[in-house]
Formats: sequence, C-alpha cells, structure tokens
Amino acid sequence: MLSMAGRICLIKSVLSSLPVYYMSSFLMPKGVCNLLTSIQRRFLWSGVAKQKKICKVQWRFVVKARKEGGLGLGSLMSKNISMLFKWIWRLNLPDHALWKQVTTHFYSPTFENGIPKLHGHISPFWKDVLSILDPNSVIGLVLRENIKFKIGDGSSILFWSDVWIGSNALRSIFPKLYQISTFRNGLVNGMGQWVNDQWRWNLVWRRKLLSYEEQQYHHLLSMLEPTIIRQGKDDKLIWSCNSDGSFSVKSCCTLIDNTSSATDKVFEANVWIKGAPPKVQVFLWLAVQDKVSTRAFLHQRTVLSATQASCVFCSSNLETSEHLFIHCNFSRSVWMKVLDWWGIQCCLPRTIDLLLLQWPEMVHGKFQRSAWRLISSSTIWGIWLLRNKIVFEEGTINLFDCFFTILHRVAIWLHSQDSNFNYTGNDLLRSSDGIKLWCNKKS
Ligand SMILES: [Zn+2]
Repeated sequence: MLSMAGRICLIKSVLSSLPVYYMSSFLMPKGVCNLLTSIQRRFLWSGVAKQKKICKVQWRFVVKARKEGGLGLGSLMSKNISMLFKWIWRLNLPDHALWKQVTTHFYSPTFENGIPKLHGHISPFWKDVLSILDPNSVIGLVLRENIKFKIGDGSSILFWSDVWIGSNALRSIFPKLYQISTFRNGLVNGMGQWVNDQWRWNLVWRRKLLSYEEQQYHHLLSMLEPTIIRQGKDDKLIWSCNSDGSFSVKSCCTLIDNTSSATDKVFEANVWIKGAPPKVQVFLWLAVQDKVSTRAFLHQRTVLSATQASCVFCSSNLETSEHLFIHCNFSRSVWMKVLDWWGIQCCLPRTIDLLLLQWPEMVHGKFQRSAWRLISSSTIWGIWLLRNKIVFEEGTINLFDCFFTILHRVAIWLHSQDSNFNYTGNDLLRSSDGIKLWCNKKS
C-alpha cells in the first residue's frame, strides 16, 4: 500500500497529467471535472479510485500551494482555465505563428488591456476560451486584474483603457475626465509630445474643465509625472504573478487555486521540513490541522464510540492531536527529554502549529535550526509510531525506547542529507555535542 506522500506524487504525475491534451484545447464540462476530481480525491484518501474513505481535509484546501496550506496538487479546473488562458496570452505576443495568422484573418481581434474582442461568427473553441474571462465571475476578474502593461514608447497602450499606471485603468479612476476626453481611444504616445527630448503630456478636453475636474486633472498629472516614456522601446504585456512578467500556466493555477477560498492557518517551512521523509511531512501537515486519525478524530466521524476515544497513553483524556502530541504526560516527558538533551529549558507551546513555529527560534544558526526542526518532526512522528505500536501490536510505553528511536531517525535523516554526518543514534544518545559540532562546521 502506497503512503499518502506516494499517492500525492502519483496524482501529480499521472492523474492530473492524463487529461492535459484535452484541457489545453477545450473547456472541461463541469460534470467531467467533478468526476475526475472525485477519482483523485478517493485515490488520495483511500489508495483506490472506487472506495470511499474519510476525506480528512476539504479538497479546496488540498489543491492549494504548500505555502498556502495545501498539498500543492492544483485543481483540474484551474489547470484547464490556465491552459486556455495561455491562448489569450499568446494572441497578444508579437510573433507570427500560423494559428495566430488564421485567427487574426477570421476574427480581426481588437484588444483592451490584453483581452481580445473577436468579431464575426466565433467558433466554439474561442467562445470557450473567452468565457473564462467573464468579468462577472470571480476567476475572470482575478485573471483580468493580473494583466498589466509595462510602458515603453506608449505606441500600443490605450491611455484610458489599459492598465499601465497603478493597478486600475485610468478611465475607472477618473471616469468624469474620461467622459470629456477628446481621445477616449487614444494611445499613450498620442497624449503628449516630445519637446527638447522631454516628454510633455497634452490632454485635450471637449470643453473647459469645471473646478472639481481641474482638481482631478492635477491629480492625474501627478500620477503621470513619474512615468518615463522610452523612445524606440516596445510596450510589454505583463503577467503580474511572475516577477519577470512572463506568463506561466503554473503561476496561473496557483493564483486561481489560492483565490477560491481562504486558509486560516499559515504553513511554511515549519511543516514541510527539509530533510524529513515526504510521509512525515504529510503527517505533520495533517497534524497541525488536527486531521490525524486519533481516537477523538475517529469518534467525531462516528467510527469510534465516546468510550473508545480516550488517549492511548494516559487513558484519562480525549485523544486529540494536541493532547496526544503535546499535552499528554507521556508526550510532555518525551519533549522534555529532547529539550534537556539539547540543553534548553522552556515551556511547550499550546498548539502543534505554534510548537512548529516557535521550535526553530530556540536555537541559533541556519544549520542548527535545520537539524532542530528535524528533531521536532522526528519527535512527533516517534510519538505517533509508538502510539500505533500500542494500539495495533500491543506495544508498551517506554520513554527511553521512544527517545532513542527519535534520535536514531534524526541520525538517518541527517546522513541522507549529508554523507559527512557520521553519527549514529547511539552517538547522539550519549550527547548532543556531535550534532552541534557538525552544524557549527557547516556554517
Ligand atoms: Zn494522554
């Protein structure tokens, strides 16, 4: 049976990739998208496509990027939309691909802030492609908001309608001025002239400006003041999700997936700990959300009765993630042993995400922090494995064994990262000096 980390890998490389050709050419019907998503969801949580199991985290969170609290799977809908949006983006680029020549010949497209308007009888393909930019849909709005221009000589940017200064089109910032402008569809380079190598703005109005319009005009001029028009340099369409302004399907997917819903937790390097095995990283991801199959979790989902929901270690408290990994007397003594071994005295934070957040701050230096993070993940993983051993294999509580296996695992993980790390679990058990020495040597 594959671990969850293995299943995530398979979903990314196989299940999400199989329909790529279709998704890059057609808008997937909602029913098909839902069906494929349900196959992915069942495979993630149960390991097979047809068996239903508890979905521990909502799919809209699972698809989000890792730093946003998800598993970075990306939704099929966002991939489909991003791939179709790429056609629109490429239509704007100044090359002469055959498909573009054909499209231009048939539809004579006109552009407003990078959004094409096609004329004549539009094919179902282009209807699908253009439908993703529907200004009445959230996704359409988000996509539109991220298209901007970087000004060059201003010869291809519409002064009032394109977004080239600030984050909105000037006509939406100054609607009154737009209404009385003589050149509503004028280009930027048509709104002024060069005088002695200096660009001078020259906006022309249909009538004399009223006093409040004068004020707006001065505001507009102050916005235009810092703009530098560069003669002989092309204007450039910018995709603001990428720092270099280029468009990529990946950045578009991330944008859409992160738009669809907000997460209330911050996940960073503290959950996806470098050097920890993927299955441990995924486990921590579940643990900070209290979605590990503890007895309290299974009781909530009516798998276990209330009498079966008490902690495996102490039998006197509800076995929630926080109790099992932090507050239980046994777990607390494991953490204290780890802290004592490293030579740190402190109180444990209240929650798992706070623990993972504050843990690296207890030590100094990049490599010590990195090793110290591994120790926290090994401790949580060690407590979980011991708990499972007691539940499924009639194991017994043994603080020393638990502590030793935590150090043993850390030694293996560090060795797999750096073959110069030659300390064994036994070496680490004697003292934490070896690991500290190795960290200091590296920094
Ligand atoms: Zn307990």
